[in-house]
Amino acid sequence: MTDLTISKELAQFLEASPSCFHAAANMKKALENENYTELYENRKWQIRPGGKYFVTRNGSSLIAFTIPAREFSGMRILASHSDSPAFKIKENPELESDSHYIRLNTERYGGMLCAPWFDRPLSVAGRVIVKDPSSGTFLTKLVNVDRDLLLIPNLAIHMNRDANTGYKYNAQKDMLPLYGSLTAKGTFMKTVADAAGVEEDEILGHDLFLYNREKASIWGASGEFISCGRLDDLQCTFASLRGFLAGAKKDCLAVHCMLDNEEVGSTTKQGAASTFLRDTLLRIHDCLGMSREDYLIHLADSLMLSADNAHAVHPNHTEKSDPSNRPYINGGIVLKFNANQKYCTDGVSAAMFRDICKRAEVPVQTFANRSDMAGGSTLGNISNTQVALNTVDIGLPQLAMHSPYETAGVKDTEYLIRATAEFFA
Ligand code: ZN
Repeated sequence: MTDLTISKELAQFLEASPSCFHAAANMKKALENENYTELYENRKWQIRPGGKYFVTRNGSSLIAFTIPAREFSGMRILASHSDSPAFKIKENPELESDSHYIRLNTERYGGMLCAPWFDRPLSVAGRVIVKDPSSGTFLTKLVNVDRDLLLIPNLAIHMNRDANTGYKYNAQKDMLPLYGSLTAKGTFMKTVADAAGVEEDEILGHDLFLYNREKASIWGASGEFISCGRLDDLQCTFASLRGFLAGAKKDCLAVHCMLDNEEVGSTTKQGAASTFLRDTLLRIHDCLGMSREDYLIHLADSLMLSADNAHAVHPNHTEKSDPSNRPYINGGIVLKFNANQKYCTDGVSAAMFRDICKRAEVPVQTFANRSDMAGGSTLGNISNTQVALNTVDIGLPQLAMHSPYETAGVKDTEYLIRATAEFFA
């Protein structure tokens, strides 16, 4: 498959995944198309050697795995995250302004770049929870108000002379989206209910986020760049799933996971700091009649790839990157290092990963923060507090991380697909 075909499919996945719940639903669909069987945490599992399965938690985290037909010695685990920084709709969201406008009350989810959220069409996506009157169970309905619905207007330069000289955005003052004129009063939750196909008064709970309506674009002198919202980390998620499905998975317990809440520290019931991965791995061993010791032996013989996008050298700020570890867009998979182990990569796991990429004939670049600059963290080291194993932190190079319109390379997605297929070979 060509880079362009893969990039177009990535663009479709990004556009179809305006929230983490949509990303998980789309992944579930892709796995079902490949005859993976869904398991549920609240039911008994019937699993067998040679089988392929997946399980979700909270509708926003998902773990897929295949069990080899013959005896296996270790596990290959590939992890990425489903969430991206965005503004979350608060309860009682409508706010009247000057008896003329209706705005929505929101709060930050994660650490986003604020400026690019202004002056572009936005809408709302996520989930609502309703109760099924016949069975008494709670049902989740995905929501995407699939039209230009909201916008956060900038303040004119004449009214904010500091706008271009370092202005600090106030999330409660500057960032609230405009929803309508006064006639829109009292209609927002009805709009959401209509999009979810439920009655407004049926909605008992919701998790709704703003998203950028701008479509993905493949651009540049030779079409070398791809831009869209949520490339961090759905580009890795998309490539990981492709690599997982393509890999032979014959000699190892192959595990692909997409976890939620990386952008807010992972300490939720479905995040990397939760027991989700450990519970799933232990349960697989239990259901196959293996012991706790078997699990620990397998763990000692396992490798995890933690895949989360990385900062490419910025064309206008080349000085912000480390002097000798400088990833570029379309230059290959980025291997991330940090002496304080915010990235898990060490000499051993780096060697293992370089070997995989060599076999897959995929280029590898390296990333480290400048020594005078604190960087971000990711899910590898957090996951290791629950499931400790050799881990390597990798990612795809991108610009404008945590903008609602990020930029990456058209070649790099294919590199990660090929390397992860080799990882599962
Ligand atoms: Zn990320």
